[in-house]
Amino acid sequence: MIEIENVRKSFGQLEVLKGINLTVQKGEVLTIIGGSGSGKSTLLTCINGLETIDAGRIVVDGTDVHAKGTDLNKLRRKLGIVFQQFNAFPHLTVLENVMLAPVKVLGQSKAEAEAMAVKQLTHVGLGDKLKVYPSRMSGGQQQRMAIARALAMSPAYMLFDEVTSALDPQLVGEVLDTLRMLASEGMTMICVTHEMKFAREVSDRVAFFHKGVMAEIAPPEELFGAPKDPELQAFLAATH
Ligand code: ATP
Ligand code: MG
Repeated sequence: MIEIENVRKSFGQLEVLKGINLTVQKGEVLTIIGGSGSGKSTLLTCINGLETIDAGRIVVDGTDVHAKGTDLNKLRRKLGIVFQQFNAFPHLTVLENVMLAPVKVLGQSKAEAEAMAVKQLTHVGLGDKLKVYPSRMSGGQQQRMAIARALAMSPAYMLFDEVTSALDPQLVGEVLDTLRMLASEGMTMICVTHEMKFAREVSDRVAFFHKGVMAEIAPPEELFGAPKDPELQAFLAATH
C-alpha cells in the first residue's frame, strides 16, 4: 500500500504540491490526469524518494520514504518507474540493458538475470529483439524495453510518467497494450497519462490534479461521466 498524507512540496516560492492525500491499495490501478505543471511528475518523484518533501509523509508498505535512516535503494527496488524518455545504454544489447540492474543492484548471477530478462522481454513482446541494439528499435519498442527493465527488478509497484507522450501516434497503442496487460495481471500501478480513453478503460480510480491540488478522485465512469470540479470539466472539454 502507498499512503500519501498531506504532502507539501515547493520549489523556491512555487508550491507544487499543496497537501496531497491519497492511498493506493495493492492491486489498484490509479491514473493521474491534469494540466501541465499541476504537480503530477513531482508526486511520482516524491513517492520513490528522488525528491524530498516539505510536509506530510509518504509510506510505502510501512516504510516512511522520507524518514531518516530509510534505505532508499531498498525502497526503490519495490518501485519500478518508467519515464517519457528512456535512456538506454547504446553500446549494450536489449538483453544486456535489461540484465544490468539485476546484476549490479540485486547482485544476481548473469544466468539468473538473463533468465529474468528473457522472461520480461518476451512478456512485453520483444522476445525476438534480445540481441538487437536499442538504436535499431522503434520508440514503442524502446518504451517496452524500459518497462521490461523495470519489471526485471520484480517491483511491487509500477509508476509510469507519460510513457507514450514522446511517441509517434501509431506507436502509442502497443505501449498502452503493455500497460493494459500489466493491469490485468494485477500489478499495482500509478500512471500519469494524457490518454483519456486509456485512463477510462484501465483505471480503478482516476485522480485529477490542478495547480498542486488533487481536485477530484473517482472511479473513471464517475470522473469522466459526471465530473464535479469546474476545472476538471474545463480540462475534459479541452481534451476532447
Ligand atoms: P507536465 O504535464 O507538463 O509533465 P506536471 O504535472 O508533471 O506537468 P511537474 O513536473 O510536477 O508538473 O511540475 C510542477 C511545477 O513544478 C512546474 O511549474 C515545474 O516547472 C516545477 N518544477 C518541477 N520540477 C522542478 C525542479 N526540479 N525545480 C524547480 N521547479 C520545478
Ligand atoms: Mg510531468
